[in-house]
Amino acid sequence: MTVNLLDHDAEGLARFFAELGEKPFRARQVLRAIHRRGAADFASMSDCAKSLRGRLGEVAEIRAPGVIRDEITPDGTRKWLLDVGAGNAVESVFIPDGDRGGGARRYRGTLCVSTQAGCALDCAFCSTGKQGFNRNLSTAEIIGQLWLANRALGGTGEGPRALTNVVLMGMGEPLANFDNVVTALRVMLDDDAYMLSRRRVTVSSSGIVPAIDRLAQACPVALAVSLHAPEDRLRDALVPINRKYPLATLLAACRRYLERSPRDFITFEYVMLDGVNDADAHARALVALTRGLPCKFNLIAFNPFPGSAFRSSPAQRVRGFQEILMNAGIVATLRRTRGREIDAACGQLAGRVRNRRGVVGISEVTA
Ligand code: SAH
Ligand code: SF4
Repeated sequence: MTVNLLDHDAEGLARFFAELGEKPFRARQVLRAIHRRGAADFASMSDCAKSLRGRLGEVAEIRAPGVIRDEITPDGTRKWLLDVGAGNAVESVFIPDGDRGGGARRYRGTLCVSTQAGCALDCAFCSTGKQGFNRNLSTAEIIGQLWLANRALGGTGEGPRALTNVVLMGMGEPLANFDNVVTALRVMLDDDAYMLSRRRVTVSSSGIVPAIDRLAQACPVALAVSLHAPEDRLRDALVPINRKYPLATLLAACRRYLERSPRDFITFEYVMLDGVNDADAHARALVALTRGLPCKFNLIAFNPFPGSAFRSSPAQRVRGFQEILMNAGIVATLRRTRGREIDAACGQLAGRVRNRRGVVGISEVTA
């Protein structure tokens, strides 16, 4: 069977090369060729011995998901719809900010990455959740999103990198696909691959507590937690995983997550739902809930989708809510659903999922 080299981090590649009787430094060389230079085949790896290239051509491949659609909006946001087989599609979105050519505004290029085809957690306001769950993406399908974006954006080789930040906020719950996600994270952080610092890679989770603890040990990147409610009854209804891991347990896990990295903070995501979770009392309860925990809030405008029962909170309500958090000394930023902002495209990604009951759901990207 052919081995897809995108499925491996440095350690996995070293093991594979050892099986082939090759030296570990060859594995590093190939890792660099694939991820730093964006090599798509072995013939182009001119720094590798010809015999090794020939051997790799027989037993291995470099295979990212197929691109179904590639769209660029006028503000530079770029979206790829990717084929992950069996009629399923996921999306990844690139959001540039500032000037890559070295202009006045510091450049930032963020890729929002999907980790599952669909999601089993069924949050009440999420179109991905409503589509059901099909399967976990492989490491190759996750890291393949960076590989494809990097190639398309000319981010390989010398000069400024196209990708400076990655957020795992596309389709799916990253911590429900733990092993494949962690292997992909290791490639993102590797100096012979995407060279991202762990503060520039963010895992967004709805709060699978044991997996948060495991992530702290395995690969403590930046953590965003989808909070959406300050008390259990409401959160049970909005984010059903809360019934298993209620707020006190979740907040304790957040505190433990920061123990190993005292300079870090947790980002709490909070979708503003009109008349549901957006009252002053909710904001005050959030202040009490997070007391003593280094954190920031991202207030997200709800992105409606066909059949959704919620409305986005009015702008004035969002400002009032934000003010309460800010007055309590908590940094709270706003995310719009449209425009250039990075999270604009995230959390409401399109895609197409044929779930196990055979139902096909389709949602449109509006970001
Ligand atoms: N499963 C992970 C990551 C993907 S969702 C998680 O839930 O955190 C990324 C973010 O988008 C989450 O905060 C999620 O709650 C939010 N989101 C989901 N549906 C949304 C919608 N319709 N409008 C706005 N934000 C949404
Ligand atoms: Fe899954 Fe996140 Fe959507 Fe909830 S918000 S259903 S965890 S993708």
